[in-house]
Amino acid sequence: MGRLWIIRGKFKIVLAKGLKMVEQVIKRLSEFGEEVRHHHEDYAVSSISALREKGGVLERGGLHFHFPKAFGFCYGVDKAIDMIFETCERFLTPEKAAKSQKGQRRVFLTDQLIHNPSINRKLREMGVRYLRRDRDCLLRCDNLHKGDVVVVSAFGTDFRDIENLKKKGVTIVDTTCGAIINVWKRVESYAREGFITVMHGKRHHEETRATVSQALKAGGAYIMIENKREAEELADVVRGKIREIDFIRKHRDALPERFYLESSYARMGMANQTTMLKEESLEIQEILRKAFEERFGGEGAKQRFRCFDTICGATQDRQDALKELLQKELDLILIVGGFNSSNTSHLAEIAYERLSLYHIESAGDLLSKSEIRSRCPRDGKVEVRKGWLKSQTRDIGITSGASTPDVVLSDAIQRILDLR
Ligand code: SF4
Repeated sequence: MGRLWIIRGKFKIVLAKGLKMVEQVIKRLSEFGEEVRHHHEDYAVSSISALREKGGVLERGGLHFHFPKAFGFCYGVDKAIDMIFETCERFLTPEKAAKSQKGQRRVFLTDQLIHNPSINRKLREMGVRYLRRDRDCLLRCDNLHKGDVVVVSAFGTDFRDIENLKKKGVTIVDTTCGAIINVWKRVESYAREGFITVMHGKRHHEETRATVSQALKAGGAYIMIENKREAEELADVVRGKIREIDFIRKHRDALPERFYLESSYARMGMANQTTMLKEESLEIQEILRKAFEERFGGEGAKQRFRCFDTICGATQDRQDALKELLQKELDLILIVGGFNSSNTSHLAEIAYERLSLYHIESAGDLLSKSEIRSRCPRDGKVEVRKGWLKSQTRDIGITSGASTPDVVLSDAIQRILDLR
């Protein structure tokens, strides 16, 4: 029999053989117990790991692959991978599950763990199931039972989902990245002080939805802004040039229900999805700041408008490192990562127009020496393009998004060598 401990207000059952299992919420890998593994290391490739931090050139088969100083898995993704695979090992594999008194348990994910197809495929193959969401984007928890395990993805989830999961008595493995939780704290403080959160992010992205829910949790409201065009419209509302009601009607899906805005009293605070393009976020801040200054004067704007750059350090490092890499003489550049990955698609945007740029998900997109399947960062279309690998190609820039394992990068390099 295990002993019952109370640690920081949570009940923990310490099982035999040092395996410790939190019955309600697990937030760190160490909370699984002493015998944990850093599963993200399974995705490392030594020749590529050696280039991380410093950047450099990998010479293979007469080709030079140029790497930036920062690429691939970030600390948030490392943590999410560690925790989900530890969960799978403990609750889905018969040998380990047998050590737990409850035996094998069903494991669910709230959303894709990270935006990488190979990782998500592997999780499905291991038996992880996905919860569905309703029309309000909240998790459907009806079929969950006590004893089930629900893993919250690295993007986090709506605070109401967590409340509902707790009511169901399931074990929650929360892999939400710490950088995102920091943004939540800022949004909460805006709400507590009566500021509407203006969230620069993709409306339907899991992270954006989870973040704006924190404003509601603290009794506040939010407006989601995807781009500069929408920011200009909101700026005109602040200036009094566009009626509040017209803006609300037009952007219903970017606002909470029963949203009310009176521009003459409005106070707003900015936050961004952690993986947006920093330049765009800064421009949006300036667009809104100017509107507040025009309407309320410099001092009034200081009282009514707040901003804070919430782009995460890992995203910024990858964007900066790519800009540095683009200074080199390259024949083409490959950006490797999920087509639905926000940080990867922003890397592709940075390289677009400067070089022959191809955003691919994996080696499978390198169809032949003449054909490549890639996503255009401008319109988001995935198309087969021709003539990408020329006989005179020698210097290839290559980078990957924060959710792309090094093995995927390595496979892409091997595929290029095979095609040559
Ligand atoms: S990109 Fe940033 S916010 Fe997203 S998981 Fe990685 S560290 Fe966290």
